[in-house]
Amino acid sequence: MSKLIDSITLVRENSAVETLRNRLVPKKVEIFIWRARRGRIPVRLELDKRGIDLHSVRCPVCDGGIESVEHILFSCQFAQDVWLKVLNWWGYNTSIFGFDDIFNGTFGSLATDNKKFLWQAVCWIVCYLLWKNRNEKVFKNKIRAVPSLNLEIQTLSFDWLSRRQNWHKLEWHNWIKNRENCRKAKEAADKDSRKPPA
Ligand SMILES: [Zn+2]
Repeated sequence: MSKLIDSITLVRENSAVETLRNRLVPKKVEIFIWRARRGRIPVRLELDKRGIDLHSVRCPVCDGGIESVEHILFSCQFAQDVWLKVLNWWGYNTSIFGFDDIFNGTFGSLATDNKKFLWQAVCWIVCYLLWKNRNEKVFKNKIRAVPSLNLEIQTLSFDWLSRRQNWHKLEWHNWIKNRENCRKAKEAADKDSRKPPA
């Protein structure tokens, strides 16, 4: 059934069928990414398009631009600062980054098979938490600093990923400081991710 749904709803938008799913993240994260990719999360621009009367379509986090999906997850200054920390954490040096990169798993020059699914999982978790942060600002007026969100990205991704099958060898200090020591766990995770959907 999942293959049938994908064939109808997703393949037309993106040819990278094999990476539409990432088994390293919870279903709620997969669903969030799927919805966001299709412009179906309630950012102010999308609400405005649908005729909902808003006092502003500006970004509630930075107030520096129109709140589109792309803005809140990538081009918002707050998001940029968060992504910079995540990219540094992974040792990546790039300024070319967008939704297509994390959705279809190509990542431009970052694409390597042994890191692909693990890195994609982390990126999806970053997006999920950027959206959660946005909602906390809108609905609870809660303002967080970049280091605080960055720590949550690292702890939550460790918590989720280490619970996956074959990830019992993943240790926190390796996850944070030296990911190369996680090589075996990565390989196991990549192998797991490439299994066809059940
Ligand atoms: Zn913004």
